[in-house]
Amino acid sequence: MQKKLFVISGSSGVGKGTVLKGFLQKNPNFMLSISCTTRKPRQGEVDGVNYFFLSKEDFQNCIDNDKFLEWAEFAGNRYGTKRKYIKQCLEEGKDIILEIDTQGALQVKKQMPEAVLIFICPPSIEALENRLRGRHTEDEAAIQKRLDEVKIELERAENFDYKVVNDDLDNAISELENVIIGEQAKC
Ligand code: 5GP
Repeated sequence: MQKKLFVISGSSGVGKGTVLKGFLQKNPNFMLSISCTTRKPRQGEVDGVNYFFLSKEDFQNCIDNDKFLEWAEFAGNRYGTKRKYIKQCLEEGKDIILEIDTQGALQVKKQMPEAVLIFICPPSIEALENRLRGRHTEDEAAIQKRLDEVKIELERAENFDYKVVNDDLDNAISELENVIIGEQAKC
């Protein structure tokens, strides 16, 4: 059976990682793609497990040699998905999920129109704004910057195939499951 590529993006602070983790726990046959990044490993992160950690030079080399299916710059670091890695996973018949930013997701769609793009969004901008303000961890300028970024991502999300609203975690996981299983049934 031809496998599908699922691409999941979401605004920061929306709990995209938690929704995806819940989905993967219930559906262990899905494989999460491992990206390359120039970001330094955080504590506990392992090369080849969380990311392939590359130097800036090696990353640039991959760009120059057209090795990436997509890549993007995010918060001062570069992130990318290797074309060969995805091709190999699909050929091996693996169900694969990419968890990447919205710029990268739209690049994947251009090259692989059959890829399914899913955006995990907050119930509303106001809800997210209240959450950010309620945490009292960022000043007004930082909150405005985050909200501006979220607005840009929501605009890009207009070109996604599906939106999953994360108002309640269990509901969001079920909704994501319905989308993915429904798409697989179309194959
Ligand atoms: P973090 O540094 O917190 O692990 O990831 C930061 C952002 O980079 C997240 O929004 C994540 O979805 C995105 N990201 C991770 N891997 C890739 C990738 O291969 N390509 C793109 N375009 N974004 C990625």
